[in-house]
Amino acid sequence: MAEIQLRGVSKRWGSFVGVDNFDLTIADREFLVLLGPSGCGKTTTMRMIAGLEDPTDGEITIDGRVINDLEPKDRDVAMVFQSYALYPNLNVYENIRFPLRVRGTDPSTHDEKVRRASAMVELDEFLHRKPAELSGGQRQRVALARAIVREPNVFLMDEPLSNLDAKLRVSTRAQIKNLSHELSVTTIYVTHDQIEAMTLADRVVVMEKGIVQQVGSPTEIYDRPANTFVASFIGSPAMNLIEGSCAGGTFSTQNTEIAGLDVADGPVTLGFRAEDAEVRGEGGQITAPIYTLELLGDATMVSVRIGGALVSAKADKSFRAEIGDMVSIHVPKEHCHLFDAESGERIG
Ligand code: ATP
Repeated sequence: MAEIQLRGVSKRWGSFVGVDNFDLTIADREFLVLLGPSGCGKTTTMRMIAGLEDPTDGEITIDGRVINDLEPKDRDVAMVFQSYALYPNLNVYENIRFPLRVRGTDPSTHDEKVRRASAMVELDEFLHRKPAELSGGQRQRVALARAIVREPNVFLMDEPLSNLDAKLRVSTRAQIKNLSHELSVTTIYVTHDQIEAMTLADRVVVMEKGIVQQVGSPTEIYDRPANTFVASFIGSPAMNLIEGSCAGGTFSTQNTEIAGLDVADGPVTLGFRAEDAEVRGEGGQITAPIYTLELLGDATMVSVRIGGALVSAKADKSFRAEIGDMVSIHVPKEHCHLFDAESGERIG
């Protein structure tokens, strides 16, 4: 069992607020991802849970017990860093065994535990090698095995894939997902990569400037982003956001008129995803010259400029046109997201 609670947790350095009033209960066995751009406070939040940083305010509990004053080593959490932090002079076997030795675990159990952990991350063949003789992906798997071997109550992972190349990142990501299913241990995972967040998480916490913007399942934050920050951070490409105004349920701005919306009159930001729009020859609600065309293989991305914003829509792969040709984009009204023009908060 390991349910983690953060109650009003803040971290300040002088007048600078790194994490602002973080409130969340992380369920036993949940895979929670902290997602946000560089400097948003993800790592600081994780370091406070690990005990490497003291909160300025608030309480952190594991299974109801306040752990604020507990030493990191007494928290029963295992951390995996992006930098691996392996011992260069120890081979893979000894690196994985290291936490068992430090903790004084019964030596007669070591061999079985090390072999089980290394098999889980498919390192059985490399046990005699030194870290310098391994690839980046293999090193990261040693770091994972070293966390697994401790059989902790909580895994904390800080950008564990960020030093891997794109291909290795995908395969190691799949391995982490599979491991987390197998081990079923409460996991908090930090990343700035929304695809990692969407593929791994049971729930995602989107943060910006130390403040939690939204907490939800990957589907919830994708389908109903709480504000324009989340809307523009989740999804690839990012959600199109157009400034305009509504009158009588019709949103309009340059080259754009979308009727039938349920929203009060006034300035609004309208959002829609490229994959939810249709590209037509004519008769859509946005009609403008093509700014750019990108062939994606399975589809063609068509972009136009509306005001200052680049607005994209996914067309069929057979779509043929030239830059500068007029194109018409249709956005079904059920796929329109409406945000307050000033605060950016969702209003419909
Ligand atoms: P990244 O993805 O770049 O690691 P992050 O979201 O993990 O970013 P944090 O490392 O949590 O961000 O940092 C949050 C903010 O707190 C940053 O603006 C950072 O500069 C600041 N910060 C972190 N540690 C300290 C410190 N010891 N003293 C002062 N400011 C700090």
